[in-house]
Amino acid sequence: MTFVVTENCIKCKYTDCVDVCPVDCFHECPTMLVIDLDECIDCSLCEPECPAEAIFAEDEVPESQTDFIELNAELAKNWPVITEPVDPPEDADEWKDKPNKRELLHDN
Ligand code: SF4
Ligand code: SF4
Repeated sequence: MTFVVTENCIKCKYTDCVDVCPVDCFHECPTMLVIDLDECIDCSLCEPECPAEAIFAEDEVPESQTDFIELNAELAKNWPVITEPVDPPEDADEWKDKPNKRELLHDN
């Protein structure tokens, strides 16, 4: 099993999760972070740290977001590892909990 970042991270990227991951398995895409599913050791430390509640155990991902499991796997291959928290986007709080952010995933 592994943990997965889902839709509510899009345009938030608070990066609190990065600070606690013992194996540096978060990767930074332009609009969200994703988890390298092969590297995640299932420690669950990141899940409660996410202010956007965007991180789920793989078997608890809401049904409407199960495609994020594959998306995490794919995007983690293409974007660099992030090991230190960075400042979130200035408008992160405005985007937090907004529905239907999925179409913004590939915005820069
Ligand atoms: S803490 Fe949550 S919102 Fe912030 S980058 Fe990590 S997964 Fe995304
Ligand atoms: S569950 Fe643990 S190893 Fe997996 S991404 Fe979260 S902090 Fe990293």
